[in-house]
Amino acid sequence: MFRDTVTIRVQAGNGGRGCVSFRREKYVPRGGPDGGDGGDGGSVLLVCDEGHNHLGHLRHNQVQRAKNGQPGSGNKRHGRSADDIEVPVPPGTVVFDDTGDGEYQQLADLDAPGARALVAGGGRGGKGNARFANSARQAPRFAQPGLPGDKRTLRLELKLIAAIGLIGRPNAGKTTLLRTLTGSQGKVGAYPFTTLEPNLGVLDMGEGGRYERAVIADVPGLITGAHRGEGLGLTFLRHIERTKALAVLVDASSTAENGDSLAEAHYQEVCEELGHYRAELLERPRILVANKIDLDPSAATLAALRGLAAREGIEYCEISAASGDGMQTFVEWVRDCCRAAADAEEPSQ
Ligand code: GDP
Ligand code: MG
Repeated sequence: MFRDTVTIRVQAGNGGRGCVSFRREKYVPRGGPDGGDGGDGGSVLLVCDEGHNHLGHLRHNQVQRAKNGQPGSGNKRHGRSADDIEVPVPPGTVVFDDTGDGEYQQLADLDAPGARALVAGGGRGGKGNARFANSARQAPRFAQPGLPGDKRTLRLELKLIAAIGLIGRPNAGKTTLLRTLTGSQGKVGAYPFTTLEPNLGVLDMGEGGRYERAVIADVPGLITGAHRGEGLGLTFLRHIERTKALAVLVDASSTAENGDSLAEAHYQEVCEELGHYRAELLERPRILVANKIDLDPSAATLAALRGLAAREGIEYCEISAASGDGMQTFVEWVRDCCRAAADAEEPSQ
């Protein structure tokens, strides 16, 4: 679960004042009350908009303010109500009311594109004095003030659930791949375990104006014994559970001292670990990604990996996470997996 958080203030418009006025007409010495009502203040709504991937467009502590309603006027003219304002937020935004005493109350969970939440209601316009006239009180000299609009401080949290998990031994290149694909700022190190938390990145796969995104998790620390809680494994394995598909990265260039490739063994090790943890994870769509092809692994190694993937009945691709070579095939696989998962969730009518 990845969080992007921001605090904003929202302020709805105040209601317009009701008017105190009396009719003035020729030959009518004492006209009745004719003060009109004030208009309603504008409300502030948050709208789930799939055109946004993060909360970056809402600066910290920015104020989103709707306009006030106009006051009423004579001749029973009502003041104009102000327009509501709509603030776009990305799908997956959870909205909390920040009451200031350290407590956060959830107001809305904006998951579905188009979903809306009223976060600050505009103040009602005040009634003009024309409304207060009755047989006993023919000349009311008062009107209602408009009510104040709501003011709130909101904490917005973006929760993303990764569709694709990147797994592999330490140093396989998971963090590098995520960074190349999504610009995520994960740490990349030449030694194992630099990643203590799963990094997430959002891959924009949209073509021709079409919106499509995939959240990818770099799940670190998968080492032998992870399923028994050794190393950093177990916490991280939980993040894999909600993914739709898994990419197993191997460093295709890694060899034992005698020169034999270790890539196949690394793949087997990772899958075994996964199976120990939860066998059903092995049923998920999977791809074997031979990484670091810029380091010129032998043709025999690559052929062996390709054969292995074929025997396992899974996809295969060769990439260099560092240089970006081969990304297209990988992105296509991501896209296919996401589409298949979406189709499975919402069978078309
Ligand atoms: P992780 O442990 O799987 O997240 O691996 P990292 O992404 O941290 O990468 C481990 C090391 O391998 C780093 O020094 C990277 O720069 C290097 N590396 C990753 N991908 C490639 C690649 O495609 N080519 C080369 N030459 N080095 C890579
Ligand atoms: Mg890493």
